[in-house]
Amino acid sequence: MTRMYRGSKWARLALIAWGLMLWVGSPAAAQRWISGIPWSEPPVVVPGDHHGPPSDAIVLFDGQNLDVWEGGDQWELRDGYAIARNRDIRTQQHFADVQLHVEFASPSEVRGRGQGRGNSGVFLMDRYEVQILDSWENETYFEGQAASVYNQAPPLVNASRPPGEWQTLQILFTAPRFDAEGELESPAYLTVLQNGVLVVYNWEVQGVTHFNRPPDYRAHGPAPIRLQHHGDPVKFRNIWVREIQLSPGIEPPEDEQPPAEPEEPRQEGLEADEEPAAEQAEEETDQEPTET
Ligand code: MG
Repeated sequence: MTRMYRGSKWARLALIAWGLMLWVGSPAAAQRWISGIPWSEPPVVVPGDHHGPPSDAIVLFDGQNLDVWEGGDQWELRDGYAIARNRDIRTQQHFADVQLHVEFASPSEVRGRGQGRGNSGVFLMDRYEVQILDSWENETYFEGQAASVYNQAPPLVNASRPPGEWQTLQILFTAPRFDAEGELESPAYLTVLQNGVLVVYNWEVQGVTHFNRPPDYRAHGPAPIRLQHHGDPVKFRNIWVREIQLSPGIEPPEDEQPPAEPEEPRQEGLEADEEPAAEQAEEETDQEPTET
């Protein structure tokens, strides 16, 4: 056999060509496909310990004071936590797409039932409520229990801890987009983890939270985060937020470098309010029962 191959030039060439084909098809020779998008290096973020704020988070409450909240002086401060009193409170800063961390505890002393037990809420953009309720062995309508998108979607599971125990809510929120005419371009989306358990997964928000009428959308821009006072002394601690840039890390082309003095920061696709969001939402709240 050996003698036969040695004697055949064509057979040797065929063998080499076959080997080359094998090599070209092997992972060692493969080229990585490149999208061409000029990604910039993701910034380094130092994670927080024990649900603490990461290094790039905006701390909204660290147990010391509620100074960054409008109405925060109306809530009661105790050893490292706040208790809902008197009125809703809103961040002075306005937000759109966010990762939000909130810790709460339902009153240890159980009073009331259904929606009247440990009721509060986290309103994204002052409008879209993730319900806070004492849902430990407490019957109510499913789309109104703890971690529901209030009056729109029940949580996937009930991951509530007993009254008095601290609980975490981790909320991922995509703001709605409106076009120049104020028409809805894309709805809001919500994902929520309660105590580390996925309870709302990429829910398409149907519109503004209402108690006595269907949800709807009206064009608005970035708006405060609101914590609800619903008459129950719900406790809060360790609240922080990270603003999400939906198209992160893309280097601008050289001829489109940002100006030295950037314009008023605006979220792409969001239209500014005709009136302040807080006032607008307050009017709405006044017009209807606050059973949320
Ligand atoms: Mg509520």
